[in-house]
Amino acid sequence: MTERKGCPFCGEKEELVAVELVVGPVGGGEGDYGERKAVECQNCGALGPWGDTFTEAAEAWNKRLGAAEGRG
Ligand SMILES: [Zn+2]
Repeated sequence: MTERKGCPFCGEKEELVAVELVVGPVGGGEGDYGERKAVECQNCGALGPWGDTFTEAAEAWNKRLGAAEGRG
């Protein structure tokens, strides 16, 4: 499992949870539902980018953190 960095907004590291969003039907097929994963900060409510897997979501979360630090 990809290590998650702290929240880019409040710095929280413990209150990060994985959330799922079921979307569908995708592709027009019956039962072809997709699940999107994301990391959410329970402390400030920040929601990371959606990914197809928790690993992808965690990586996107980390990239977002890097992008936030790289600004300015
Ligand atoms: Zn936060």
